[in-house]
Amino acid sequence: MGEQQRDGHSGRGERGALPEEARAWEELVATARRTVADGLVVGTSGNVSARVGDTVLVTPSGVPYDRLAPDDITGVDLDGRQVLGTLVPTSELPMHLAVYRSTGARAVVHTHAVHATAVSTLVPELPTIHYMTAALGGPVRVAPYATYGTHELAENMLRALADRTACLLQNHGTVAHGTSLSQAYDRTAQLEWMCRLWLTASSVPGMSPHLLSLAQVEEVGEKLRGYGQQR
Ligand code: 13P
Ligand code: ZN
Repeated sequence: MGEQQRDGHSGRGERGALPEEARAWEELVATARRTVADGLVVGTSGNVSARVGDTVLVTPSGVPYDRLAPDDITGVDLDGRQVLGTLVPTSELPMHLAVYRSTGARAVVHTHAVHATAVSTLVPELPTIHYMTAALGGPVRVAPYATYGTHELAENMLRALADRTACLLQNHGTVAHGTSLSQAYDRTAQLEWMCRLWLTASSVPGMSPHLLSLAQVEEVGEKLRGYGQQR
């Protein structure tokens, strides 16, 4: 991706997208639409980002995902300066940039998934109800509440994400990251599913669910490294 591929313009949102960025934007928009289609958000809630080089593509703030076209590509640098497009970037830029600055993540998905958000109001950590806890790096923590879009929320999130690939945001939703948009999305969906599982099991009157030990979760963490089609 050499400089010669750029259109020669510079400054806020004026340069053209590189082919790689245009491809990533398409995938990002598809992922954002999927969060709505799968019921993980309602309306323009949530946001999605993907890193291409040192550019972070993000969903614009408050724009319905089904209206996003190729020309709406929105990108910032790692300091949050807009380098692509003219639409206002997501209000949660501090959260997305905090993840990219402190991890090797290439994609971040934030949703208001209902079971996950319900759990975020009940406990400081999702109980180890299922071995898929290991796929997220261990027991999923809840970041203490702070107003959406603030640096305080981004800081609380980073602490909750330490050694994890997902966390809950108290009275707000989920954040998950990955090496691709599909991985970040899949982790979000697994987290929402586990939250629904725990709520379901813990809602049986007079009974409380059996939980896995940390050792059991860690053992699965090892085993999952060889999961699936490894040949
Ligand atoms: P944006 O539309 O600005 O991305 O905000 C949605 C959201 O979920 C804020 O937490
Ligand atoms: Zn949100």
